[in-house]
Amino acid sequence: MESQTIDIPLPEIIVPSLKLEPDDGCDRCGYQPYESELTGLTGSIYVAQAQVAVLLSSGGELKFCAHHYRENEAALATVAVQVIDNRDKINEKPASGSVHAGE
Ligand SMILES: [Zn+2]
Repeated sequence: MESQTIDIPLPEIIVPSLKLEPDDGCDRCGYQPYESELTGLTGSIYVAQAQVAVLLSSGGELKFCAHHYRENEAALATVAVQVIDNRDKINEKPASGSVHAGE
């Protein structure tokens, strides 16, 4: 039996560098699908804009709106290694307000 090297495609390596982009959304609020009647395009938008990004000790990354961050703050404090808190910088401008998905 000859030993065999199995070529396992490596998962995309995510370097833990925490950042918070304006179009990031809250992981708890999640996505909301929309379909534009004008363009026929479909997609998804975040229900709420993320205002806090949390890098977990496991290497994972979570993003929360102010509401959900507050709700999970105590639990996150025990596992977070880095936190970007933009709650002061981002004013009331929810992502859901910028796109009107046919009501
Ligand atoms: Zn949320």
